[in-house]
Amino acid sequence: MDLFNLEGHVSIVTGGNRGIGLGMARGLAEAGARVAIWSRNEERNRSAVAGIESAGGTAVAVSCDVADEASVAGALEHTIDRFGAVDSLFANAGTSGLGKFPDFSLDEWHRVVDVNLTGVFLTTRAVADHLIDRGASGSIVITGSVVARLALPLAPHYTASKGAALSYGRSLANRLGRHGIRVNVLSPGWVETEMTEGVTTDERSAGYFLTRTPLRRWGAAEDFAGPAVFLASDASRFMTGAELVVDGGISSS
Ligand code: NDP
Repeated sequence: MDLFNLEGHVSIVTGGNRGIGLGMARGLAEAGARVAIWSRNEERNRSAVAGIESAGGTAVAVSCDVADEASVAGALEHTIDRFGAVDSLFANAGTSGLGKFPDFSLDEWHRVVDVNLTGVFLTTRAVADHLIDRGASGSIVITGSVVARLALPLAPHYTASKGAALSYGRSLANRLGRHGIRVNVLSPGWVETEMTEGVTTDERSAGYFLTRTPLRRWGAAEDFAGPAVFLASDASRFMTGAELVVDGGISSS
């Protein structure tokens, strides 16, 4: 369908070298977008690109630490050099951690908030600036999480960062709508990735979460291909400031 066609479109996916980001990047490339994978591990970036190219897509590996302003500026320059312009950003890079509050260090707080919130700020700011400069419309998608509402007691920093990312996305939608730039938040539930290894491989946690998930399975990276294509494409052209929850139903159970 033309509405979902991304031929001629350029997407950046931060944290695109594995997990949910890679699932989104593969979907975007399959719909015709040229995709820039922005993450820190260069070997994994190259391997993500090789996978997309072997499936017939076009991608470039860009080394980037989203929490570092200079690194984000360099990554955008590299992407524009390679593809000419950017049309959508998936601000998806993230990290998590557990700790028993109040025995919780400031370093641990910063480690998570710097990536999950400051990283979202730096990357969305850079791409919004680029889109406004060229007078182009575009789509910005921030990866949130259902934990913004289903708070995790052992991850106050992660929970707070995702709640803030949701509010931040809604604020940007209000500011950027006048430029034709849409901003939406894609909130996954429990997805089987490196981030959740400790949960998905632990029998007790698995039982707890899966019995509360109406679809009775973990999410998979590939489950995010369709939502990513929808949010980047004309199919969602009147949608901004929204949260798209992709969680197998856990937040309604
Ligand atoms: P993974 O741990 O599998 O992937 C995380 C990705 O983020 C990697 O590509 C990693 O690459 C990248 N990354 C981490 N830190 C940085 C950084 N400083 N700069 C650039 N890239 C970085 O996690 P998921 O795929 O599970 O998570 C993706 C997103 O989805 C995150 O925002 C997460 O919070 C969110 N989410 C995940 C859920 C789940 O159940 N898995 C549920 C809800 C939300 P590298 O290390 O090479 O930089």
